[in-house]
Amino acid sequence: MDVKRRHLVAGSFALGALAARPGWGTTPDKPADTPPSHPAGPRPKLVPIRAQLDQLTDIKVCLRPFRATGPRLDVEKIGDKTVIHNYGHGGSGWSLSWGSAEIVVGKAASTLTNSVAVIGCGVIGLTSALTAQRAGMNVTIYTKALLPHTRSVRANGSWTPDSRIALTKPAGDSFPALWEQMARYSWKTYRDYLGLPGNPIDFRDHYILSDHPFGEHTAPPPDPAAGDYASTGKPQNTAEFADYGDLIKDIIPQSVLLSDAENPFPVPHAKRRATMMFNFGAYGHLLLSEFYQAGGKIVIKEFHGPADLKTLKEDVIINCPGYAAHDWWQDKTLIPVRGQTNWLPPQHDALYGVNYRGASLLSKTDGVMVQALDFTGIGEMVGVGNSFEHADRAEAAKAIGIFEELFARMGG
Ligand SMILES: Cc1cc2nc3c(=O)[nH]c(=O)nc-3n(C[C@H](O)[C@H](O)[C@H](O)COP(=O)(O)OP(=O)(O)OC[C@H]3O[C@@H](n4cnc5c(N)ncnc54)[C@H](O)[C@@H]3O)c2cc1C
Repeated sequence: MDVKRRHLVAGSFALGALAARPGWGTTPDKPADTPPSHPAGPRPKLVPIRAQLDQLTDIKVCLRPFRATGPRLDVEKIGDKTVIHNYGHGGSGWSLSWGSAEIVVGKAASTLTNSVAVIGCGVIGLTSALTAQRAGMNVTIYTKALLPHTRSVRANGSWTPDSRIALTKPAGDSFPALWEQMARYSWKTYRDYLGLPGNPIDFRDHYILSDHPFGEHTAPPPDPAAGDYASTGKPQNTAEFADYGDLIKDIIPQSVLLSDAENPFPVPHAKRRATMMFNFGAYGHLLLSEFYQAGGKIVIKEFHGPADLKTLKEDVIINCPGYAAHDWWQDKTLIPVRGQTNWLPPQHDALYGVNYRGASLLSKTDGVMVQALDFTGIGEMVGVGNSFEHADRAEAAKAIGIFEELFARMGG
């Protein structure tokens, strides 16, 4: 899960030894924030997940397209072409896609055009194309690769709308309201995709586990000697990253602290929350089908620089290349934030998610995704500036090992 680490991982990454809890071996001291136990009853049971390295089916590596000021949504004139940018959504592209598309399509509509070119077929390009069709436009997508081969499908696919989306100071005072508009619009649109065959969009119970009371471990304070984005051109500590979750907490299910009686895991501290997630296979297939059914066309084409836009018949272009804008549009404000997802076979009898000891697991119908989040407590800084887009098997082994040990304690 691409998460707000300050909220979820700070409590779940653990440096110490295992702490057992009543009913699972030894009896630890009762931690201060443990809620009162409920009357004795059967402990809730979850089917353990087969998280083992020898079950690995795939390792996917992706670069989050991060910009300190938030996604680029402005309009540029290149010769007689109007280019409306829609890229730079950091770790929040799936979550904010519909709201971001609504903004850029509004800008396209203001030109009174009835046909647009969309560059890119990741989640941002596809949702922009569909939104333009819904506004009555003819749309052609020009792209180097189709959705299954984009960076988008190398993500993990959860509702994480303010994960590495911007830095608080560079984003300024007006961005939070824009972010809120995108987040609310996306959330509402996603609700239309719930309950469909194949569950393209679904909810999961996600458990946040910790060996220590929540809030005990927090990110280290900023080191003044390291500077910050303003002095170095790169974020230097997790406190610089924007945190906008409170703006929409009226519509998002909040996490609940579990009592011992409610906690299905052999770990002393647990929270649970209902999380929206995206099944890439079913959802991607549905979006492409909707696009074709509405008369959309896709042309496989690679652009090498803005001058290539002359070759397009459309005068209005929505530009959605993701991190690739760093090279083909020469946008050096994009900062890569590396992330790796490791995939195990789907396990349909155990569809839930867990964060524990700096790693995340999400069991979806298209596979069990395991991801290293933060083993060292540096929070949002993990992967910042790292453009190494190759698989790291040791990282996969460490993350999967955390869950193998956890589920072994549950008899898995
Ligand atoms: C490990 C990881 C986990 C993540 N988890 C989540 C999550 O849980 N929730 C969430 O909301 N977000 C998540 N994200 C972020 C999300 O994946 C991205 O924000 C999103 O995929 C960006 O989509 P995009 O369409 O802009 O870019 P891309 O997916 O990169 O698509 C770009 C498109 O442009 C095309 N293109 C590029 N260059 C050219 C060119 N020169 N000529 C023609 N076409 C070109 C490509 O072929 C592609 O079709 C995660 C990211 C990572 C790395």
